[in-house]
Amino acid sequence: MERLQKVLADRGIASRRKCEEYIKGGLVKVNGEVITKLGTKVDPDKDIILFNNNTISKTNNKIYIMLNKPEGYVTTVKDEQNRPTVLDLTKDIKDRIFPIGRLDYETEGLLLLTNDGKLAYKLTHPKHKVYKVYEVLVKGIPQNSDLDKLRTGIILQDGITAPAMIKTIKTNDNKALLEIKIREGKNRQVRRMFSAINHPVLHLKRIKQGNLLLGNLQKGKYRHLKEQEINDLK
Ligand code: URA
Repeated sequence: MERLQKVLADRGIASRRKCEEYIKGGLVKVNGEVITKLGTKVDPDKDIILFNNNTISKTNNKIYIMLNKPEGYVTTVKDEQNRPTVLDLTKDIKDRIFPIGRLDYETEGLLLLTNDGKLAYKLTHPKHKVYKVYEVLVKGIPQNSDLDKLRTGIILQDGITAPAMIKTIKTNDNKALLEIKIREGKNRQVRRMFSAINHPVLHLKRIKQGNLLLGNLQKGKYRHLKEQEINDLK
């Protein structure tokens, strides 16, 4: 049994708080009865739940979530080596969802997951130019002349990179914390860009994708996107 507001949120109706408002406002029926009491437990597999007189089906509702991926998780749905996958962190969402794009096993930060194949296709298409911002800790302190090479484009095995925007946040102990903004998604691109200027990446975290900010979402936690955020992506 699960709390009604959680079931509604997991089916992509709205955030949990908003769903509580909907319940209090009498918009939700369970087995034909309007339920206004928060925290009512329902069986998501058996009870018939209506929102605004429409059934909330398992497949029709689009789900869009942002996860703060920790290190040590793969972003594939299954892993040959049986390593944990990001879906282990979203197990309480009963519908089948999948990551949009990828982050390396060791990379942290903003990862979108959805059951909206159309949006996933659009966002991962090479033509789609959504900027991503990464916080990157590198070994040594890169010279401006080196960073300029990344700013203009650097040759990697699979071609030249598009211009990147980079700023240094702080430096200490022979390490530098930088922010890099790119719109491509070549495999291990940021890691390879910094290796190419001999400043290997020690830690990498995606903090922004388009207008979406990771903000203070805790590591390993997820949240549903707000309607405005979803519209911005489309
Ligand atoms: N660039 C990388 O090198 N790794 C990521 O996970 C994302 C961008």
